Amino acid sequence: MTSLRAEPLIREDQLRERVDQLAERIVADLGTETPLVLAGLLRGCYVFMADLARALCRHGADIEAQDFIVCSSYGDGMTSARKLDFRMDLRTDIAGKRVLIVDDIIDTGHTLLAITEHLQAQGPEMVRSVVLLDKPERRETRVEADYVGFTIENLFVVGYGLDFAQRYRDLPYVTVVEEGE
Ligand code: 5GP
Ligand code: MG
Repeated sequence: MTSLRAEPLIREDQLRERVDQLAERIVADLGTETPLVLAGLLRGCYVFMADLARALCRHGADIEAQDFIVCSSYGDGMTSARKLDFRMDLRTDIAGKRVLIVDDIIDTGHTLLAITEHLQAQGPEMVRSVVLLDKPERRETRVEADYVGFTIENLFVVGYGLDFAQRYRDLPYVTVVEEGE
């Protein structure tokens, strides 16, 4: 049996504030002069990316395209399959472009590593990454995201785009899935 922890791990107001801070830092680092391509990893990124893109806009970023990659490393459960299943690639030509990968969470790091290598091979000027959540305890690779919203413990979380067997993406906050007896 699984159940959701009633108390949010990260509340809506905390998400809003942190997303704004991330956008501010990204714009401070990357500037407002050179256009940026956002490359989101569906499906988990969609809520975060929608909020982040608008926060970047408020802070003056020049976003020339928002595109998506569909891949999954998890099946319907809570354990990592360690193998990336690519289902849809970017439609944008990123050669010579500045690309910001947007993902929901970095766990083992296999996804971010594979996607970074995949995009680097297309000749962009630069690739950076932003993740809402980071579970450093679980890392199996040497990859780190350039920008991290929140560092969390080794917990399985849902909400704000993150699912458990496709449910709970619509929760406006992040909470923990708990295994019961
Ligand atoms: P990694 O390749 O870093 O192990 O896994 C990254 C992907 O695993 C994330 O993009 C996300 O889809 C999924 N994932 C990892 N941890 C969690 C979690 O706590 N909750 C949910 N819903 N997905 C997770
Ligand atoms: Mg994901």
